[in-house]
Amino acid sequence: DLGSSLRGTLDKLRGKSRISEEDVEEIVKEIQRSLLSADVDVSLVMELSDNIERRALEEEPPAGTPARDFVLRIVYEELVDLIGESTDLPLEEQTILLAGLQGSGKTTSAAKMAWWFSTKGLRPAVIQTDTFRPGAFEQAEQMSERAEVEFYGDPDGEDPVQIAREGLEATSDADVHIVDTAGRHALEDDLIAEIEQIEGVVEPDRSLLVLDAAIGQGAKDQAQQFDESIGIDGVVITKLDGTAKGGGALTAVDQTDSSIAFLGTGEEVQDVERFEPDGFISRLLGMGDLGQLAERVERAMAQTEDEEEDWDPEDMLQGSFTLNDMQKQMQAMNNMGPLDQVMDMIPGFGGGIKDQLPDDAMDVTQERMRTFEVIMDSMTDAEKEYPKAIGANQVKRIARGSGTDEQQVRELLEQFKMMERTIKQFQGMGSEKEMQRMMQ
Ligand code: GDP
Ligand code: MG
Repeated sequence: DLGSSLRGTLDKLRGKSRISEEDVEEIVKEIQRSLLSADVDVSLVMELSDNIERRALEEEPPAGTPARDFVLRIVYEELVDLIGESTDLPLEEQTILLAGLQGSGKTTSAAKMAWWFSTKGLRPAVIQTDTFRPGAFEQAEQMSERAEVEFYGDPDGEDPVQIAREGLEATSDADVHIVDTAGRHALEDDLIAEIEQIEGVVEPDRSLLVLDAAIGQGAKDQAQQFDESIGIDGVVITKLDGTAKGGGALTAVDQTDSSIAFLGTGEEVQDVERFEPDGFISRLLGMGDLGQLAERVERAMAQTEDEEEDWDPEDMLQGSFTLNDMQKQMQAMNNMGPLDQVMDMIPGFGGGIKDQLPDDAMDVTQERMRTFEVIMDSMTDAEKEYPKAIGANQVKRIARGSGTDEQQVRELLEQFKMMERTIKQFQGMGSEKEMQRMMQ
């Protein structure tokens, strides 16, 4: 299952505050695999993954945002950016024209949408102009009956344009007119000419392209042709109750610069949903918990406060001080504010004692901290636990691995030494104080 492997990859980032190039590459590959298997157009997938990769590597996560949340937010934002919000459908008087190939689900969707508008207190009517497909009239009539909406069609009519004109007149009491049209097996000139003529008579407020979720790469040509002839304002994706994920519709959305209006999820008139990006993106990625993701995204900024609870400043006074401790401390400083405030949180070290700190001992600007974190990512665990053992060759390797220079690596080690001395001093003071107290 692609979704679970994407989730697994993302879960590997749990607890990390920095994301490496390899991490980003792995995630992007998983996303590409998910989207391609959901029928999303190759060039769209490439564009999307380039954007995700670039942003994940270039943008600075807000202080305290875990790497996993940061990447998820980028993935989510880029997909929402591509897919867009639901097509705007004001609940007012309007005429909607449906276009699409035969079997895409136009007639079913017409009745479904009419039903949907009726639940919003509007009075819809379905007008069937399909004179091509045998039984089209009966099908539309029956579905409209099931949706309990007004219906107009002409079982003996031969001119779709005339039926459209008459239909609008006959249903003039209705608020929402949904005009169903004929499709063909493939795009043919007469289909395009016919729908152009209908469009001229109907003058729709919105033209929606109805697409079967299973449509793959063919979506592009269709979308382009219908968009050129009548202008497409939105897409209806049908048959999402099947196995297809509807990624082809994204091509249509992109091609027509439009959005998704409705989703069809079954054969009954009630099997219709207004499009919501969250659920659709979850489905595309095969991740079931995008709602949670959205929440996580919202929480990402507030996360800083949660993190504070995980780190106890007092820990730093226990045992040996390592680069990992320094990194945690720097993060804590980023999250908590200036070090003197952090020191206030340590019992016995508030007040006058912090004034004895060397001025620059704890002066780690955010800029420096980021460089340090990049450098630390190229260190082994052993090096981080015991930085004193890092020799000239290792400095060289770390600098190369992190894309920094040896001077910067040495600065980090200097900073570490300075902090370690200060901490030791504090530890000494702490026990001295402790002894004084015991002697009293
Ligand atoms: P049209 O030729 O574009 O008008 O397509 P129809 O509305 O006649 O639909 C073609 C077939 O697809 C019919 O058998 C419908 O019942 C079926 N269909 C349409 N929408 C859906 C859907 O959302 N889910 C399922 N399972 N079937 C659908
Ligand atoms: Mg039809």
